Amino acid sequence: MSVSDVLIIGGGLHGCSAALHLTMRGASVTLVEKDYAGRHASGVNAGGVRRLGRHLAEVPLSVASMELWHRIEDLVDDDCGFESHGQIKLAESEADLDACRRRSAELRAAGFDHEEVIGEKELRELVPAAAPHVVGGLISRADGAALPFRTVQAFRNKARKLGARIIEGTAVDDVRRERAAFAARLADGRTLRAPVLVNAAGAWGGRIAARFGETVPVDVVAPMLMITERRAPFLKPVVGATSRTLSFKQFSNGTVLIGGGYLGHADPDTNRTVLDYARLGQNARTVRELFPAMRDAQVVRAWAGIEARTADGIPVIGPSATEEGLFHSFGYSLHGFQLGPVCGAILAELVSTGRTNLPIAPFSVERFRTARTA
Ligand SMILES: Cc1cc2nc3c(=O)[nH]c(=O)nc-3n(C[C@H](O)[C@H](O)[C@H](O)COP(=O)(O)OP(=O)(O)OC[C@H]3O[C@@H](n4cnc5c(N)ncnc54)[C@H](O)[C@@H]3O)c2cc1C
Repeated sequence: MSVSDVLIIGGGLHGCSAALHLTMRGASVTLVEKDYAGRHASGVNAGGVRRLGRHLAEVPLSVASMELWHRIEDLVDDDCGFESHGQIKLAESEADLDACRRRSAELRAAGFDHEEVIGEKELRELVPAAAPHVVGGLISRADGAALPFRTVQAFRNKARKLGARIIEGTAVDDVRRERAAFAARLADGRTLRAPVLVNAAGAWGGRIAARFGETVPVDVVAPMLMITERRAPFLKPVVGATSRTLSFKQFSNGTVLIGGGYLGHADPDTNRTVLDYARLGQNARTVRELFPAMRDAQVVRAWAGIEARTADGIPVIGPSATEEGLFHSFGYSLHGFQLGPVCGAILAELVSTGRTNLPIAPFSVERFRTARTA
């Protein structure tokens, strides 16, 4: 039997970030990861560090997380490959531009000014390779991108350096409340006990919640990405589109990453994903239409990650509604990488003080209970 203050299930960015922030507050932490830290969504994603286009409920958290990203090296002793050349959604028509204007106004009304509409002239300066029909866009200038696996490793390593115990390669097979503590039985036969349990199990987080009677409507999905051969440098910002799904960026080595949330098939029981080539083809056609110079680009690799998507597309963050001492942080619905630094800090605040200054009410697990009983 082994005892810590806090037991974290899941070594993705959210689990590792919670481990880091909790150890910074002096808690003794054990994190258990069934594979290795960063094996799933957090280590294989597009690395987009984006406030642009976020659900309004997520904006305050995303803005706070961006402040951490801009001093990430101070936090984890590694720059995580973070570069900030902005994120832009291309507008392909006057209707798209109107949508950009409405969004920017909506955000300003909520007290934020980081999304700005840009006209064709500035768009062509920033994205000269965009197709001739593009008329402008919506920009969030201090957004950017980082290297996902390196980021998770940096959080993991810093947490470990500060005293967190990181156990990889064995799953939590069973977890339950036993008097004042949670008892987690690991696949390797060990039992760990802690008075506080953090569920940061990503696509498997719904299963952990269900053990404590909390049914969260969560789909397990497999977002796909493609990468091309090296091209001469032509793009600095991360680019999306206003009325189609796209995520497009060029690395400094010349390769181009193409995504946009197109889904393959996920099997969380075996950790396997299966690509959907028809949907990848659709993703590639969008790129050819928006970036004519990419017409002859060769795709060299495609993959998918396993991710949890909730019914309303925003995560579950905060205390359990059924079990004292249990905290959830999962269901990031294809956009949780950027939120990793701040959500770990939020979890650590909740565990240590029972509250946080950031507005997390929209992420309460209770919203689903209310929806079910209405
Ligand atoms: C292809 C793709 C592209 C994406 N692009 C972006 C992007 O550009 N920007 C962005 O902000 N977000 C993006 N995302 C979303 C982002 O990656 C996720 O929202 C985020 O990484 C979720 O982190 P997590 O820690 O909750 O989950 P994960 O990284 O999945 O970590 C959860 C961990 O828990 C472990 N676990 C589960 N059950 C157990 C158990 N019983 N015992 C022990 N361990 C367990 C798993 O093995 C896993 O490693 C993308 C996702 C994908 C898949």
